[in-house]
Amino acid sequence: MKFSRLYPAGFAALLATCTLTALGQYPGWQQEMDCTMDITMDVGVHQYAGVMELTYINHSPDVLERIPFHLFFNAFQPESMMDVRSRNIVDPDRRVGDRIVNLPEEEWGWIKVNEARVGKASAEFNTVGTIGWLTLPKALAPGKKVRIHLAWDAQVPRQVRRSGWMNAQGVEYSMTQWYPRVCEYDHHGWHTNPYIGREFHGVWGDYDVTIHMPAAYMIGGTGVLQNPEDCGHGYGDGPTPSEGIIDWHFVAENVIDFAWAADPDFVHKALQMEDGPLLHFIHQADTSYSAWEELPEIAARAMEYYSDHVGTYPWPQYTVIEGGDGGMEYPMCTLVRGNRNLRSLVGVTAHEMAHAWFQGLLATNESLHEWMDEGFTSWIESEFLAEEFNESRDQPHYWAYGGYLNLVRDGGEEPLSTHADHYVTNRAYGTGAYSKGEVLMNQLAAVIGREARDAGIKRYFDEWAFSHPGPVDFKRVMERESGLELDTYFQYMLNSTHHVDVAIRSVVVTEDATTITLERVGLLPLPVDVRITDANGTVSDHHLPQVVTQGHRPLAEAETVHAAWPWTHPTYTLTLPNSMPGCTVEVDAARLTADADRSNNLVELSSGTLQEWRNDGGDH
Ligand SMILES: [Zn+2]
Repeated sequence: MKFSRLYPAGFAALLATCTLTALGQYPGWQQEMDCTMDITMDVGVHQYAGVMELTYINHSPDVLERIPFHLFFNAFQPESMMDVRSRNIVDPDRRVGDRIVNLPEEEWGWIKVNEARVGKASAEFNTVGTIGWLTLPKALAPGKKVRIHLAWDAQVPRQVRRSGWMNAQGVEYSMTQWYPRVCEYDHHGWHTNPYIGREFHGVWGDYDVTIHMPAAYMIGGTGVLQNPEDCGHGYGDGPTPSEGIIDWHFVAENVIDFAWAADPDFVHKALQMEDGPLLHFIHQADTSYSAWEELPEIAARAMEYYSDHVGTYPWPQYTVIEGGDGGMEYPMCTLVRGNRNLRSLVGVTAHEMAHAWFQGLLATNESLHEWMDEGFTSWIESEFLAEEFNESRDQPHYWAYGGYLNLVRDGGEEPLSTHADHYVTNRAYGTGAYSKGEVLMNQLAAVIGREARDAGIKRYFDEWAFSHPGPVDFKRVMERESGLELDTYFQYMLNSTHHVDVAIRSVVVTEDATTITLERVGLLPLPVDVRITDANGTVSDHHLPQVVTQGHRPLAEAETVHAAWPWTHPTYTLTLPNSMPGCTVEVDAARLTADADRSNNLVELSSGTLQEWRNDGGDH
């Protein structure tokens, strides 16, 4: 790709290295594209005309006869799949509800492709809901490229979900999921996922986008602005044109999508990080928006934290833009709701910025593997916020564990392997993807140790940035890093709704031994850690590995490893050759596992002589 065109040498080298490394992995290929768009806005009717020149390179081993495109705006019409789904799910997203069916026609969204050419030949383009199918006049062979021309008219829907005209805070244009975006084709085939509400998957490529917009509007978006001197609005040194049209020209290299937002009330601030990207902050001029004054310094610390703990942010800029209806990640930018207090604004920015890694760079198919996107993002966001605000309770992931376990206890959980749009409830999706996904990453430390988990995250970035890793790729990285087999952990966490619950059933202290019997109440088998504190306060830690990991995590100096606990065995007896009357026994004192019932994890014997303490169940 054209790395030298815009970016400093360091970025070019990093981009090139990552791409080559990623392509060296299974399946060894990924599709590629180069997209130029020219967009003319008509803000009077909130419509626009678009022209796209797309070069699509088929690196797959397959012959392609059609190429599908996402036409997301078509979801914002009465009776669309998004509309009907929202009116039938038991717990609809309040932002959507029945709003689509009640939109007046001038506030519907639509995209009408009225011209399609492949090379010089005109081509058939058939739209079905939110997917448009381009039939190639000549099939595209493996290794070949094709040049596609599309022209379309579009109406920006009233802002209902993520994108649209006029959000609740008055931002006029949240332009996300807004153009005919080529669907991804990978070793699983085409991903023509109708737009129901979530989530996204796209082809890696370069975007060169020119937007013709009335001069009053400021734009922020993906990519590097090529002509800041023409645009004013605080981007370059030049004045802001007072009338006419500004031609905003953005270029983004090696990204999976392009998003932007525009409003006449936007103000703009920038912070150039030392050894990092230029950060832009764009929001409406509103005196109640004081949190935005403090955001830049904190956002820079988040950028640095993620670069240190996952991998270096490779693009030259990142922009936080007020828009949309919550927070949503896009390459090199995010749209967030703007009227927030500092803690909320920092929280949403820290989350969306972390997606630059867990989606923007490690571009999982988030419809299928939402936990790799939302869960990993939530995990590192919590780690950063705990450090930034020093506010975690007994651990930074307290809320994730709590949310996930509430879902477990009330029986609402659905397997994490469920497609993001197909959960029975929005709650099961949200708590699964975000909270259980966060738990999955954090709890991994109970299996392989914190050091291997943390090193594995960096290795995952090194091996898979700029590609589309899936669950097996992540699992294999963690296996290579730890030397352990993790099939069982991921099988249970992703494909079942079994949970962890280890109970202490008895503690028997005799003259020459202390014997502890444990029961696996929850069926998810993890290694078990037992801490015993004797009557003098001396602590000893005991690690019971899982047979299926074929080994165990590294031990601390004072830890003792015992025989593995086979998952087939409901109970385990740990006998220690010393008498410890008055001792305290605790399972998982580090609170790394999402143990659904901690009331059976702790036994404190009263001080005194030899004892026998038993709980034969009933606390399941
Ligand atoms: Zn997210």
